[in-house]
Amino acid sequence: MALLSIVIPSYNEEQVLPKTAAILKSVLEEENIEYQLIFVDDGSGDDTWKVITDEASKNPWITGIHFSRNFGKEAAIFAGLAYARGDCCGIMDCDLQHPPRTLVEMYRLWEQGYEVVEGVKRSRGQENLLYAAGVGFFYKIMSKATRVNMSRASDFKLLDKKAVEVLLDMPERNTFFRAMSSWIGYKTTSVEFDVQERVGGESKWSARSLIRYAFTDIAAYSSAPMQLVTGAGVLTFLLALVLGIQTILRFAMGHAVEGFTTVILLILFLGSIVMMSLGIIGYYIAKIYEEIKRRPRYIISKTTEKC
Ligand code: UDP
Ligand code: MG
Repeated sequence: MALLSIVIPSYNEEQVLPKTAAILKSVLEEENIEYQLIFVDDGSGDDTWKVITDEASKNPWITGIHFSRNFGKEAAIFAGLAYARGDCCGIMDCDLQHPPRTLVEMYRLWEQGYEVVEGVKRSRGQENLLYAAGVGFFYKIMSKATRVNMSRASDFKLLDKKAVEVLLDMPERNTFFRAMSSWIGYKTTSVEFDVQERVGGESKWSARSLIRYAFTDIAAYSSAPMQLVTGAGVLTFLLALVLGIQTILRFAMGHAVEGFTTVILLILFLGSIVMMSLGIIGYYIAKIYEEIKRRPRYIISKTTEKC
C-alpha cells in the first residue's frame, strides 16, 4: 500500500498540535490510508517540541524535527520534505486551517495519477480590507513573475515523490514553495477548500514580517523592479529632452540666467530617482550575496528518529 507523508510546519503550536495529530489520525485511519506525520518544530519558544516528542513516543508514525532556531515556514517545509519517506507527500498547516478531509481528496486524486495536487482557497477566510488589498497587489506581481495564477494559491499541497525530489534538488536558498511547486510542472490538478478558522493559538505573521516576506519573494522570482529602474531612466531621459530643448530655446532668446528653482528641483528629483534605483539594485545584490554564501536553509538540532 502507498504511504502518505504529511509535513506539518509548527511554530509555537503547543495548543493545537495534539488536536491536529488526533484528527489526522482518525480521518486517515477511517479512510484506510497508510501515513506518516512529520512535525517540524521551527524553533518554537513554547513547549511545542515537548508536545511533539510526547506524541512521537506514543505513536510510531509520528516523526519530529527540531530546528536550532526559527528559520521560517519555508525552511520547515523543505526540512519536512527531506525527511518524507512516502510515495506522496502532503503539506499542511498545524492550525487545522487546511481541512484534513481535503487532504484525503487530494490523496485520491494522486491515486488517479496526478503528480501535483494544489489546494486552492475558495474563500480567503476573514481578512481586513487593507490586508486584502496588500495581498492582492503582491499576488498580481507574483502571478506575473511565475506565469501561474497565484491569487488563491496556498501552501496546502500534495506532491508525488518525483516532484518532491525535484524540489529538494533545487539549489536556491530563497525559496517560495507555493510558486516552486507550480513552476516544476508535472500532471497537476487542484482542489478547492475553505480556509477554516484557526483552532487555537495565534497567527505568526505581523504586518512587518509579511512585507519582508513579500519583498524577498518578489526579488527571488521577478526582475520587474529592475525594469522599473530602466523605466525611470527612460522617463527622465524624455524629461531631459523636453527641458533641454526649452533651455536652449530660452538661451537663444537671451533669458538664460533665470531658472535657479528648476535646477534645485531637477537635482532633488534626479537624486531621489538615482538613490531609489541604487536601493533596488543593492537589494538584488544582497540577495545574490546571500545565495552564493551557500548557507544551509535550516539547522536541525534534534529529531525523534533513532539512528
Ligand atoms: N509557521 C512556521 N514558522 C514560522 C511561522 C509559521 O513553521 O515562522 C507555521 C505555523 O506553525 C503554521 C503555518 O506555518 O503551521 C502557518 O502559520 P500561521 O497559521 O501563523 O499563518 P496564517 O495561517 O495566519 O497565514
Ligand atoms: Mg494559520
